[in-house]
Amino acid sequence: MKTLVYGLGESGLAAARALREREEEVVVADSNYSQSSRDIVSEWGIREPLRADPEILTERFDRIVASPGIRPRDALLAEAQRSGVPVLSEVALGLDLLGPDLRVAAITGTNGKTTVVDMLRAILAASGTPHTVAGNSWRALTGCLHEAREAGLLVLEVSSFQLHYVEKPGFNVASLLNTRPDHLNWHASFEEYAADKLRIFDGQGTDDLALVSAGDSVGRGAAGGLDAETLVVGEGGTGVSNGDLALRGRSITPVEELPFTGPHNYENALFAAATAERLGVSLGSIREGLLGYRLKPHRMQVIARHSGVTYVDDSKATNPASVAAALTSFEGPVVLILGGSDKETDFAEVLPHVEGCRAVVCQGEAGSRIYKFLEKKSAELGVLLSLEPDLAAAVTRAHEVALSGDVVLLSPGCASFDQFSGYALRGEAFAGLVAELAREGGRVGL
Ligand code: ADP
Repeated sequence: MKTLVYGLGESGLAAARALREREEEVVVADSNYSQSSRDIVSEWGIREPLRADPEILTERFDRIVASPGIRPRDALLAEAQRSGVPVLSEVALGLDLLGPDLRVAAITGTNGKTTVVDMLRAILAASGTPHTVAGNSWRALTGCLHEAREAGLLVLEVSSFQLHYVEKPGFNVASLLNTRPDHLNWHASFEEYAADKLRIFDGQGTDDLALVSAGDSVGRGAAGGLDAETLVVGEGGTGVSNGDLALRGRSITPVEELPFTGPHNYENALFAAATAERLGVSLGSIREGLLGYRLKPHRMQVIARHSGVTYVDDSKATNPASVAAALTSFEGPVVLILGGSDKETDFAEVLPHVEGCRAVVCQGEAGSRIYKFLEKKSAELGVLLSLEPDLAAAVTRAHEVALSGDVVLLSPGCASFDQFSGYALRGEAFAGLVAELAREGGRVGL
């Protein structure tokens, strides 16, 4: 079996290495690779990387492992499809190499994947269930095959990119959290994006469990036609009822005891709980895991309180649906900072929540487009709207207009690449700017 690994990022390198360890023939290609990745592959006995050109397919390959960053319309992948060379994602390769002898719980969705995986991890740890976590924002699956086999249980976060090139994975438990417009610069259309998300349920049998959300028209719409047992989170006995987080009619805990807030996080907790229950975890351990869980940084994280104003870092909110979820979580007035690099996403989903804002400050590359989009609505509602060039100016503006009791919320609804190399650095910059303003103006604390 001769494989072309296309894209030498973390997952491409892991895939190449896993194949070499099996003594399979591997060739690598990238349009732009570093000297260090070139050195690494040469150490593994792989020849000099090829340039990413459709012509390289005159050499015969049995399959291509495509990096998640490469779009299906890419010339080399299009040529592969034309000439009938199978294309797999790195996750698909990992599942293939693992074989059927372990349980896999897979999670996808536009928002909340990392949080649900992390909550599930906390629950499994509380119950002492051995497991390995991999995929998307975690380690590359092909980099931890041995560990996954040893644990016997794999918790897998999968993106739509990774699902695009997976054939009938047949997961034991599969969750589709939600499907909202995002990454439409990668997928040809929303329909294609939704179809890729639904591939998470392909190959499941009647012994498997499929989880969808009542609030997600894509998942809800598919629910009746799935082969697996299907649980709809937010319907029947699984949801928040009389202040209790309930799973299949049984109370896990009153929500007020949970160390996180927001309806979207309660829903995330239910996806994690239902998955854990199917994996054999008791309700007591589910409760213990959730009560001990702390949200990861840059997701609705309170970073400072200053002069009665609470500053919240939700830098990980990179699409309008996650901004809407954040705004649903606050009762008092919010000064919202929006904007970043422009994915041309439609901000209509944020409109119903503008009413709860004292001000909206637009910034960055997408700032003026969002500003124009919100102009009419904010004028109607008397919500202050500003346009600032960058995050630093936006934080200064937010600080000027916020009153005691307000929340200043960085929930940008955009990726960060116009000013930062990732959402984490953007969040850290936000915290630094807030600390600076506080130093100038007096005490800051948590
Ligand atoms: P992902 O891994 O899918 O990007 P994260 O858990 O990292 O998801 O969260 C990304 C952003 O989406 C954060 O701003 C978070 O507050 C928000 N979020 C988390 N869960 C949900 C949900 N179920 N619905 C909408 N937004 C969510």
